[in-house]
Amino acid sequence: MVRIPACHAGGRGFESRPLRQHPTKQMFCLSKTSVFYFPVFSPISAIYKPSHEGLFSMDTIHSNCSLGGDVSQTSPIPPHVSASGHDLSPLSDVERERCVSRLNEEERRVILHQGTEPPFCGGLLANKASGVYHCRLCDLPLFRSDAKFESGTGWPSFYQAFDPEHVRVVRDVSHGMIRDEIRCARCDGHLGHVFDDGPPPTGQRYCLNSVSLSFVENS
Ligand SMILES: [Zn+2]
Repeated sequence: MVRIPACHAGGRGFESRPLRQHPTKQMFCLSKTSVFYFPVFSPISAIYKPSHEGLFSMDTIHSNCSLGGDVSQTSPIPPHVSASGHDLSPLSDVERERCVSRLNEEERRVILHQGTEPPFCGGLLANKASGVYHCRLCDLPLFRSDAKFESGTGWPSFYQAFDPEHVRVVRDVSHGMIRDEIRCARCDGHLGHVFDDGPPPTGQRYCLNSVSLSFVENS
């Protein structure tokens, strides 16, 4: 039996999806370095109250883990699978290093350091082939070709993501502007920005750097 100290629940580095309900009704408490699961018969599990279906609020975790609780064992981190069936679990340090080693200098500048490629220069701007645009760093599918449109901006543009869960939005206040930066939900690589002046049916304009993408043509 392992006792969870309060600092594990409320400490720095706690993941944004800290506690999830497993299909087997076991409950998972995740941090970046630790995973605990609470069998439904555990005394502490009885006082967990879901704040949303399958999810638990940070307040719930704070209040419960601060009590200290017994768990019966540790277990591997369960994969976080998107609605489209792709594993969104963060890359391990080794995986990330291997992926980064494949990037050239320009790709590293854009993907790892929030750079922007010059307009009308990207290799995928004029691509009209049918297929899927993947993350250059981790290969997660990000946009379908049928959502690509000509925005006139000089950057590849899409009106919707392959799966909303695959793209993460971060507020960007750099360069004297307030914009919504988009990043790959799995590897956190910089992709571009999203604006609300796109075409129907979404009204969104995902403005991408070609170097952040790799294109896989439909066979
Ligand atoms: Zn990625």
